[in-house]
Amino acid sequence: MTDPRRPRVETRLTRLGRGPDEPGTPLNVPITPASNFRAGPSGDAPRQYAREDATEAWEAFEMVVGDLEGGTAVSFSSGMAAITAVLEQLPAGARVVAPQDSYSGLRALLDDGAAQGRWRSDIVDMTDIRALDAAVERADMVWLETPSNPMLHVVDIAAVVARAREAGAQVAADNTFATPLRQRPLDLGVDVVVHSVTKFLGGHSDLLLGVAVRRDGPGVAALRRRRVVGGATPGALESFLALRGTRTLALRLRQAEENAVELARRLDIHPAVTRVRYPGLPDDPGYACANRQMSGAGAVLSFELADADAADRVCAGVSVVTHATSLGGVESTIERRAKLDGQEHVPCGLLRLSVGCEHVEDLWEDLSAALDVAADAAADAAGPLGGDGASPGGPAR
Ligand SMILES: *Cc1c(COP(=O)(O)O)cnc(C)c1O
Repeated sequence: MTDPRRPRVETRLTRLGRGPDEPGTPLNVPITPASNFRAGPSGDAPRQYAREDATEAWEAFEMVVGDLEGGTAVSFSSGMAAITAVLEQLPAGARVVAPQDSYSGLRALLDDGAAQGRWRSDIVDMTDIRALDAAVERADMVWLETPSNPMLHVVDIAAVVARAREAGAQVAADNTFATPLRQRPLDLGVDVVVHSVTKFLGGHSDLLLGVAVRRDGPGVAALRRRRVVGGATPGALESFLALRGTRTLALRLRQAEENAVELARRLDIHPAVTRVRYPGLPDDPGYACANRQMSGAGAVLSFELADADAADRVCAGVSVVTHATSLGGVESTIERRAKLDGQEHVPCGLLRLSVGCEHVEDLWEDLSAALDVAADAAADAAGPLGGDGASPGGPAR
């Protein structure tokens, strides 16, 4: 039920976290470049040292993200720092179930911790319901990433939460791709949500920041303590920029998602594209579940070409879209993910496209021209007699 007095999310995004509503005060919170604060005569000033005590921009940003996710937000110096803080709350030897398809940094962190005997990690293909069920039964924590990076797999959050409850396991969800405007995992029973704010929440590829969000309680205090002790404190400027980014999140996402839906449809019928992965397409395996738990499919999609060479040619051929690794900015970016370590499960010709806020026809002209060049090159390599399809770059992996 919507509270009749509570403004809608687009409105809250523009209004929350602006400081006191008094004549002469600025509409924006200040950026406070300070590590040290006066202690005062009794030495108990509310702010004393910047690793321990939030400044206004950091507090305001957390207030906005907490409101969006329906919990209390604790921000960190990067998405990975937030993920690390969540995992560090686990008791020694805990068993963490995590998706095979997920942000590569999570996998590296889990592998390192497992090698050190810090925890045991159980990497599962979360589209395999039986494997997932069996893994959840022996888990202390289930890590979800839905939609996942870069395969756009969708996992039924409520179903996993129900099984995890029976097993006594906590559930964490990386909500970076969906953003809280499209999916609210805490409402579905998840214990802790993380974001790489670096991506859609920040939205302008100009900062690194992360956040973990929980319902109020001892878990929140423990996250704050991890931040103080671990030292992965958000920067003053980054907090300000992230807050400014969230002001336009609803607008940016609306435009980017509309573009993504249109590009997904066109890519889906392009002869050079063998498969599109986007939960907003009705024939995508994640469509039905996404329809239940998301209010939109977001602005990241992946599509596959015949091989790595063709995909690399598209990356080299685009100019409106930028060939770059990160995502979630106002500018569209594309990358061939299988070239990175730890992505052996990703098809070698898969391109992940983070769709931005450009005019969709400019994006399409750029992409389709690059696809045509890649297709022509493949035809040339095949030669007039058909050839064996091998290109100068060598056979596809
Ligand atoms: C980028 C990313 C991260 C890591 O965030 P950083 O801000 O780079 O540390 C985690 N999860 C997902 C899904 C991401 O895309």
